[in-house]
Amino acid sequence: MASAPTRFVLIIDDNALNRDMLVDYVESLGYEGAAAAQGKEGMEIVARRAPDAILLDLDMPVMDGYAVLDALQAHAEWRHIPVVMISGKDDLQTMTDVLARGAVDYMPKPFKPSILKARLHASFERKDLRDRERALLRDLEKSYSDLRAAEAGRDALTHMIVHDLGNPLAVIKMNADMLQMGAAMGSPIPSDMLAERVAHIASASTSMDLMIRSMLDIAKMESGQLEPQMERQDPTPLLHTLASRFRPVAGDAGMQIEVDAPEGDHPVAFDAVLLERVLANLMANAFKYAHGADRLVLRYRPDDRRIEVEDNGPGIPEAVRERIFEKFYQAEAASGAPRVGIGLGLAFCRMAMEVMGGSIRAEQAEPEGSRFALTLSATTP
Ligand code: ADP
Repeated sequence: MASAPTRFVLIIDDNALNRDMLVDYVESLGYEGAAAAQGKEGMEIVARRAPDAILLDLDMPVMDGYAVLDALQAHAEWRHIPVVMISGKDDLQTMTDVLARGAVDYMPKPFKPSILKARLHASFERKDLRDRERALLRDLEKSYSDLRAAEAGRDALTHMIVHDLGNPLAVIKMNADMLQMGAAMGSPIPSDMLAERVAHIASASTSMDLMIRSMLDIAKMESGQLEPQMERQDPTPLLHTLASRFRPVAGDAGMQIEVDAPEGDHPVAFDAVLLERVLANLMANAFKYAHGADRLVLRYRPDDRRIEVEDNGPGIPEAVRERIFEKFYQAEAASGAPRVGIGLGLAFCRMAMEVMGGSIRAEQAEPEGSRFALTLSATTP
């Protein structure tokens, strides 16, 4: 255990004999002593290093004990340094005056060393108590301001969520309205137009669904309430299902989806619902952020227990490749581009991979693009 820091006691007394005697005595008690022959010099020492206690003479030329007390009281950081006043005067009025002006104790000269020791001790205890009180107050103030910041963050988040759910909702409504209008006019809707409208509705509802589920699951995982349903199975069928489901959306984004997985059964352990949502988030991201990409590969490499989602878009700058997994972080928004999404998708993916005993990282694809590599657990817990 680290030893307690040495107490630092400042003696301010214009009488050299008294001063030296007090310094010697304070040091014989194991404390660190410093001496000043005048009030002003004493205050300079205080400004350099606040003492744990001050032994202060009352009658001094230029700046007397009263003036030192006033100067200490006027400063928020020094107001609480315990001052023991030492004086040749022992009348009640002087005692009352110095205590009223901020001294914690008063000792008429000559004094017994044992009494000085007891008084110093009491002063330190009082100072420790005061310091603890102030530290508690500071903690309390910090908790309060953290709480205010969290509240403000939550308000901003609610704002973003309401705004972001509004976009796909508007797409759904617009397409549904058009279908309804067509039906009301009695004219048959051409099947390719019908398919297109329905595809837009499906993709907008998928993105709303992902957003809502990610938020709910993040809250569950953060409070340790999400128990993954782990099973050993081959993930290849899931990759094919996702590829077919997302093909229309990929087509809208000008991208082809490929599945690259070996034949045969190569089981690994995962929660099928969670992994499906992780992959859906990564695929939806590629359609949103891999501008100019025309290819999305879902790859399974059983030897490394790795699943990869790779696009040939612009890729993710190395400097933010870890930060994108933080909640609410958006690389695009950080670079000043307009915001799409709320930055929860990848935070969800990382948490979900971790509850399944796996991991996720972003890599640079060759020759260009992003690759999200998921490593899965070999066994169920
Ligand atoms: P959101 O939920 O807002 O889409 P995410 O957490 O899913 O946010 O993604 C965080 C950031 O990572 C995005 O703002 C985007 O800049 C970047 N990103 C994610 N996937 C890709 C990708 N395939 N290509 C380029 N950037 C990407």
